[in-house]
Amino acid sequence: MQDGAVLYDQFYREGWRPDPDLTVSQWADTYRFLSSKGASEAGPWRTSRTPYLKGPMDDLSPSSPVQRVVLMFASQTGKTETGNNWLGYIMHFAPGPILAVQPTVDMAKRLSKQRIAPMIDETPALRGLVSAPRARDASNTMLVKEFRGGFLIMTGSNSASALSSMPVRYLFLDEVDRYPADVEEEGDPVLLAERRTNTFSRRKILLTSTPTIKGLSRIETEFKASDQRFYFVPCPHCGHEQALVWKGIKWQKENTRDVWYDCEQCAGRIEEHHKTAMLAAGQWRATAEAESHKTVGYHLNALYCPVGWRSWADIVGEFLDAKSNRERLKTWVNTVLAESFDDEYTSVLDSDNLASRCEFYDPMTAPEPVCLATAGVDVQDDRLAVVIRGWGAGEQSWLIYHTEIYGDPALSNVWVQLKSLLQSPIQHELGATLTPRIVAIDSGGHHTQQVYAFCRDHKRSLGAVAIKGQSQAGKSPVGRPVKVDLNYKGQAIKKGAELYPVGSDTIKSTIYARLKSAEGEGQYHFYHGVGPEYFKQLTSERQIIRYRNGYPKKEWTKKSTDRNEALDCEVYAYAALHVLYMHADRTQIWKVFADRLQPKAEATVAAPSSAPATTKTTRAPAIHARRSAFRDRVLGR
Ligand SMILES: [Zn+2]
Repeated sequence: MQDGAVLYDQFYREGWRPDPDLTVSQWADTYRFLSSKGASEAGPWRTSRTPYLKGPMDDLSPSSPVQRVVLMFASQTGKTETGNNWLGYIMHFAPGPILAVQPTVDMAKRLSKQRIAPMIDETPALRGLVSAPRARDASNTMLVKEFRGGFLIMTGSNSASALSSMPVRYLFLDEVDRYPADVEEEGDPVLLAERRTNTFSRRKILLTSTPTIKGLSRIETEFKASDQRFYFVPCPHCGHEQALVWKGIKWQKENTRDVWYDCEQCAGRIEEHHKTAMLAAGQWRATAEAESHKTVGYHLNALYCPVGWRSWADIVGEFLDAKSNRERLKTWVNTVLAESFDDEYTSVLDSDNLASRCEFYDPMTAPEPVCLATAGVDVQDDRLAVVIRGWGAGEQSWLIYHTEIYGDPALSNVWVQLKSLLQSPIQHELGATLTPRIVAIDSGGHHTQQVYAFCRDHKRSLGAVAIKGQSQAGKSPVGRPVKVDLNYKGQAIKKGAELYPVGSDTIKSTIYARLKSAEGEGQYHFYHGVGPEYFKQLTSERQIIRYRNGYPKKEWTKKSTDRNEALDCEVYAYAALHVLYMHADRTQIWKVFADRLQPKAEATVAAPSSAPATTKTTRAPAIHARRSAFRDRVLGR
């Protein structure tokens, strides 16, 4: 193929630059040398080593009409080298302006130093063709290499200015799942970068990544919009062509290094050493209709790694190490299977599964371990949603009632009904009755004043408190209350309404962690008949990881169409328990309240009006010297 180079030089001297028919894979086989610095196998590039890279590389060739190539690949399968070969090809044979984007500017610098510079140095055809210009941009967020007829800019997805700098014909977006959702408030970095290519009708865009979280993975979204190609390889026994999938991998329980692949057709045992011939005979097959015929998408998991790289036995070993740890399992699924990972909680917090855990006790009754009850009220524009929850030692809890009171919260009717519900006696299994000690009502909606008014009027009689959720992570479940009722001088009214800030994110994490396990500390119980809508709302949110400036950040999110009031009510009912903790001794609280629910005979002996010394001793630590009316209500005197 040296003729191609001679020809090219001749064309170039003549002042025109044709897009030659040479493909990127042919170019790599002819010219590319793998640096001993960057690659595990130094020396001349051989596409036959990783035959699955030929398809993507050839789509990146000028002779292909494809404009957009999507690689959803496992890590260390050659996807970055695919991009590098393409860059080398462009610099050598199809010059034009290139933008190569890494997740961060620092990573772009590393790519430049550890991959691009060695590639240029050790590939004779490129050496002497490329130079780094003297001047750099002042902010130093771009790295520039110049070559005849073009330039290569390397930058990070975290630099908006570099992404929107100049028009480019070629765009290489590497590891797109690590890009921030929004770069410096200028929007999506991928869109920002793609806009640079608009002026070129013969543009090419390469997007690569290992996927991350289901629903948030950019590469998965791109792949789904593509023709979804998988690499089909023939079985050495029956010739059946199939894509390699994790469920085909088998191993001996006694010897986990003894690993093979079960052919989906003949169930024949395919060995690691069969892979070389299978890869060579493999072919990419589209499995979907692309939204645009100019887009192609390739999926490749690590089971395709050439013999001598990561073996099937290695992969099984990594799986066995990772499977008991969710974080490690997630990494394994992303980087080995090249599949997105369903969020930490959604897979477990399946509403049907929770509903199947319902127990046989009636609504508005409390099983024996319940010591006290709280309520949480969510205020919507046309209704109140209410959860009453009973609590026992160790914060094990029982749903006592869930309901919705329809009506306009601006009018008194819903509040009258709420009051009546909160005054309804809950029948305890031991014979006594109880009502919620604290009722936490959300004031964050459109009816803040009505909530304040209700809480002001029923602070003492119902234990009603106004709360306001804070979504920042790391807040305590309940913060110090703020007086919100002011007199005409703007001073706080002593007995006026108070507002408790609630760490909603913190509480959601606690509740979801508890919902995940069917037993153990803090277990959540539900009564039969609560209905599927409650569970749907309870499980409507999920904690996801968003990347901000390349750093992962956990956030709670729900689909905009989903209702989540039941979850909010549960958050508030739990917050109510924490309001109670502020007024009582946490170590004594279960005993104090459990004692009150003892059968009547005992209760008469220990009647509150003439409480004997023993009872007093029990209660003493729970009581603060200066009792407010509110505290009286809380502690039930
Ligand atoms: Zn077979």
